[in-house]
Amino acid sequence: MRTIRLHDTRSGELRPLTPRNGDAVGIYACGPTVYARIHVGNARPFVVFSQLARFLAHEGYDPTLVINVTDVNDKIYTAAVAGGVPSAPLAEEMTAAYKADTDRLGLGRPDAEPLATETIDSIVALISVLLDRGAAYAVDGDVYFRVRSDPEYGSLSKRRPDQMEQGEGVEGAERKEDPLDFALWKAQKEGEDTSWDAPWGRGRPGWHIECSAMAEDLLGVGFEIHGGGSDLIFPHHENEAAQTRTARGAELTRIWMHNGMLQLGGEKMAKSVGNIESLHDAIETWGRDAIVLLFVSSHYRQPMQYSEETLAAARTGVRRLREAARLLKPGPSPEDMAPLRDRFFAALADDFRTPEALAAVWDWVRESNRRGGVGSDDLREMLSVLGLDNLLDAEGADGGPDAGAQELLERREQARAARDWAEADRIRDELAAQGWQVRDSATGPELVRTER
Ligand SMILES: [Zn+2]
Repeated sequence: MRTIRLHDTRSGELRPLTPRNGDAVGIYACGPTVYARIHVGNARPFVVFSQLARFLAHEGYDPTLVINVTDVNDKIYTAAVAGGVPSAPLAEEMTAAYKADTDRLGLGRPDAEPLATETIDSIVALISVLLDRGAAYAVDGDVYFRVRSDPEYGSLSKRRPDQMEQGEGVEGAERKEDPLDFALWKAQKEGEDTSWDAPWGRGRPGWHIECSAMAEDLLGVGFEIHGGGSDLIFPHHENEAAQTRTARGAELTRIWMHNGMLQLGGEKMAKSVGNIESLHDAIETWGRDAIVLLFVSSHYRQPMQYSEETLAAARTGVRRLREAARLLKPGPSPEDMAPLRDRFFAALADDFRTPEALAAVWDWVRESNRRGGVGSDDLREMLSVLGLDNLLDAEGADGGPDAGAQELLERREQARAARDWAEADRIRDELAAQGWQVRDSATGPELVRTER
């Protein structure tokens, strides 16, 4: 087995992946807070960690990918009040939208997608341990973590106490022993329409504790990889680490992996900045293939530029791959081109360097074109790790839809005739994941490429 090295934020070093048990690799990545449709920036960890899991499976590991859904949170209460709707159905609707939008990336689903609201028992149990150990205290139905009880607090984010603003604002300020402390549980307040019973009073969990509880439930303590956006290092991940370390006497994870932020117009893509594009709109406009290729064009740790220019380049890349695919023959690739395939996988094994891996793909394509097309096996193997192998067979020889896509179109028409709208929508999404959009024409529905 190839040695895989990944950058660990806590040590600041590349560290070899060394699973606890045999080939099993647990990966936990923090997922969305479901109060609105997700934007392209929110999709980056989904793409990075889905592709990392695919790569690990290719290398002979047995990965388990967990991406949670935060379905109880201040942002959800605020959005529900603004929309004049109850918070629970809003969270449910946005969870479904998140799953539909990320389905269209065509990278499969994580192995588990736990909800905070379904993890309350484990959260209450974990908070109880922290209270028993004197690392937490209850005040008026709230429970706070006593940050100074953890001598290693700050070891992940490398911050000094004066830089440790928990981002909880004035909320609970007068109830905290120390401004550094953060909420594990929040007593139910006016205008909040969901709550659960706990020994210290009715309320709902704070954000950080849910991830410690869900990760431990599904992967145990000391699992292999914890991921998320670099904006989560502090306070979210620092707090997750402190909670588990204090309650269990062991580190939550072995390697902390953080992805860089998406940049649009020179700023981080964020709802608060107002420069967001929904993942749904991005896929509608540019096509799923170009969006996935754009993601792998930047190394996961670097900021990623989302602009007309980078998107146009990704779309050109998709076209180049499709054109090269038309020359390919099914079957083994030439032996003397194997070093290019090896370069691809070596780049991924070295901190998941997708831009270098992609450069090996382009060299492979150039060489294949120069020879008038070669056996496709190696290219298919490389692209399947990135979830882009559909480019090798998404269209027939004439550049139109292949037989599989045509069959899906026919099944969608049958579903519509039977008024089975859910099935019709599901097939439409499946076609979209392959890069096809259904358009009605004078002669009936037809498939057109989703790219412009
Ligand atoms: Zn988290």
